[in-house]
Amino acid sequence: MTIRINVAKSAGFCFGVKRALTIALDTAKKSSDVVMLGDVVHNEDVVREVLGSGIKKIKSLSKSSDKTLLIRAHGAASNTYRKAKSRGFAIVDATCPMVTEIHEIAKKCEANGYQVIVIGDKKHDEVLGIVGQLKKKALVIDGIKTIDPAQLKKYKKAAVVVQSTQNLQKTQKIVDKLSKHIKDLIFHNTICRPTQTKQEEIQKMPLKNDLMVIIGSKTSANTKRLYELSKSLNKKTFWIQSQQNLKLSWFKSVKSVGITAGASTPDKTTKSVVSQIKKLIKQVS
Ligand code: SF4
Repeated sequence: MTIRINVAKSAGFCFGVKRALTIALDTAKKSSDVVMLGDVVHNEDVVREVLGSGIKKIKSLSKSSDKTLLIRAHGAASNTYRKAKSRGFAIVDATCPMVTEIHEIAKKCEANGYQVIVIGDKKHDEVLGIVGQLKKKALVIDGIKTIDPAQLKKYKKAAVVVQSTQNLQKTQKIVDKLSKHIKDLIFHNTICRPTQTKQEEIQKMPLKNDLMVIIGSKTSANTKRLYELSKSLNKKTFWIQSQQNLKLSWFKSVKSVGITAGASTPDKTTKSVVSQIKKLIKQVS
C-alpha cells in the first residue's frame, strides 16, 4: 500500500525568523561580545545554533562597555532600548518588521486617544514588547472568557491590535464581543501574513489526510496553535519536536500523512521527520 506524504507549503521558518537568524549570525561574525535577552526564537535547535555562534543569553541588562545587544524577532519594550543605550550597549535590532508595524499601529492609536487592547498571550515576549511600547497601560485579552464587561465600560473608544501569531477565528469572536461593549472600537487585524497562510493550510490539511504531524518546540506559541487547530479537525494529530518522537504505530492503516511545522522550526528538522516517516511507512506496509 502506498501512503502519501503531504508537506504544507508554509511549513517551517517564516520570513521574520529567517531574517532574525541571519542578522544574529552575521552580528556574531562581526562582533565578539553579543548578548540577547532570552532566546532568539522559540526553538531549541535554532537557539543552540545561535549560542554556538558565540552569542550569549542574558537575563537582564547590567552595565556594559563594548557589548552588542541583539533584539529578538519578537521585539522589545521601549524601556529595553532606553536602558541598553544608557548602559552602553550597541543595539542590533532583529525585530520582525511585521511586529514593528504592530508597535507603530498601537502607538498611533494611543496618540489619537484610543485605549489600546492587545489580543494575545499575556506573558509572550511579543505581547510584552507591544505593551511596553505604549505610554498608558494597555489591556491584554488572552481569551473570550477573560473579558470583563465592567472594565470595558470605562473605555469610550478603543483600538484592538493582535499578537502576530494568534488564531483569526478566536480573535474575531473576541472582537465581536468587545464591539458589544465599546461603541467606538477599531479593529486592526495584525495577524501576520505568514501566520494566516499557515492557518489557511491547517484548516484544509487535517481534513484531507488520515494523520497529521505538527513539528515544533513545545515552547512555540504558533506551533501550539497549529496543533490545536489540526487536532480540532483530525483527532489523529501528533505534535512532535523531532523525528525521535515519531511512533511506528501511528502509521498503521493510514493512507495519507499531512505534515506542517511552526514558524521557528528549521527545514532540516522537517526534512529529517519526513525521511524517518518514509522509513516507518516501509516498515508498516
Ligand atoms: S510569525 Fe509573523 S510576525 Fe512573527 S516573526 Fe514570523 S513573520 Fe514575523
